[in-house]
Amino acid sequence: MSDPIIIIGASHAGAGAASALRQMGYAGAITLIGEEDVAPYHRPPLSKAYLSGEMDRAALLLRPAESYAAHDIDLRLGTRVGAIHLDDKTVQLGGGERLSWSQLILATGARVRSLPIPGADREGVFYLRDSRHVEAIRGRIEAGGRAVIIGGGYIGLETAASLTKLGMEVTLLEAQERILQRVTSPVMSDFYRQVHGQAGVTILEGCLASEIAHSGDTPLLVKTSCGQSHAADLVIIGIGVIPNTELAEFAGLTISNGIQVNEFCQTSHSDVFAIGDVAAQYSPLYDRQVRIESVPDATEQAKTVARFITGDPKPHDTLPWFWSDQFDLKLQIAGLSQGYDDLVLRGNQAEHSFAAYYFEGERLLAVDAVNAPRDFMMAKMALSKGKTLDKTNLADPKAPLKTALK
Ligand code: NDP
Repeated sequence: MSDPIIIIGASHAGAGAASALRQMGYAGAITLIGEEDVAPYHRPPLSKAYLSGEMDRAALLLRPAESYAAHDIDLRLGTRVGAIHLDDKTVQLGGGERLSWSQLILATGARVRSLPIPGADREGVFYLRDSRHVEAIRGRIEAGGRAVIIGGGYIGLETAASLTKLGMEVTLLEAQERILQRVTSPVMSDFYRQVHGQAGVTILEGCLASEIAHSGDTPLLVKTSCGQSHAADLVIIGIGVIPNTELAEFAGLTISNGIQVNEFCQTSHSDVFAIGDVAAQYSPLYDRQVRIESVPDATEQAKTVARFITGDPKPHDTLPWFWSDQFDLKLQIAGLSQGYDDLVLRGNQAEHSFAAYYFEGERLLAVDAVNAPRDFMMAKMALSKGKTLDKTNLADPKAPLKTALK
């Protein structure tokens, strides 16, 4: 078939691009290559419903495995790409086979940052990034057992909440001086520390794991920089991710904290695109390069590429947004708060329903909304339209939320 498209990476971004291309009428060949040997699946439930066993594998799939063939998408699972060749427009598979492309979409995602300490490869120590990791972890979960989690980002905290609900005794170690330091403000870190503490999670900040040892009849013993050691039946490491840029880099594409792309997700080669966790893009809204690690952004970028290829180009300028579920808390985040100089709180922290609005001067940058969907929607709408909100009205509990819109 003419004009074959190859998509490397079969997660939210890659699978989303294949579907969007078909929906937008692309009739050429599409090959979707994934390294894992399972059909593309939802990642957000991995640290939540899939970990706790409330969701099964069929429900985890993005779409039924047979739907790829039904839409004439050649899904190649368990397949590793060894190299990309820009000169003759081919990719070389691990087994040596070469496939030709007219357009190539890189959705290679990110891999876990590994923890370089003695004992990190012991049995009972896991990372949590893909479904196989979670299935292995599930075999070690036992009510009354002890878990140590290394890393206090979303992975660490969502996993701590899930394991606590399953009856495990959880200790979480965060290297920075506060949990969620990379992504949010001290107010939110304080709130989440308190909620986890009340649920029984022990959170130790400014504390590095230095070794994972065996000790007597304890399966694992996590030694730390803060003096204490923690016995554990299970250790989970969630200390961030690294974008998988190597294939692009060896091919000679421009890399800058990710594969550099323009507003149409085009790389430095006009027929090669990059989307999802691996893509670094200029954000006109924040006037800087960003690499967004979020499912909604991956999905939007997939549509941007499909539109471009099918002749209806529209720049990717959607607002980044995220969510996280922990215990009874639904955190929804719109925008990027980095660089804020003022923060307005609205709602009631004690009742677990409030929002933190971040400003730079009078300009709204972002909102973190906890069980506060109206605050999230209002801020998301304002940010998407380039508007701001009135700080005085936001801070006044008697003023209806809509009066804050400028
Ligand atoms: P994060 O980078 O968000 O958080 C990891 C945390 O661990 C950082 O604070 C990091 O500090 C800290 N850390 C690093 N090294 C150590 C160490 N040796 N000991 C203890 N702590 C350490 O990554 P996650 O792993 O939590 O998440 C991975 C990716 O998955 C992210 O993109 C995340 O956004 C995404 N994700 C999103 C979810 C959501 O949106 N709900 C849910 C789950 C995952 P430092 O900054 O210094 O490295």
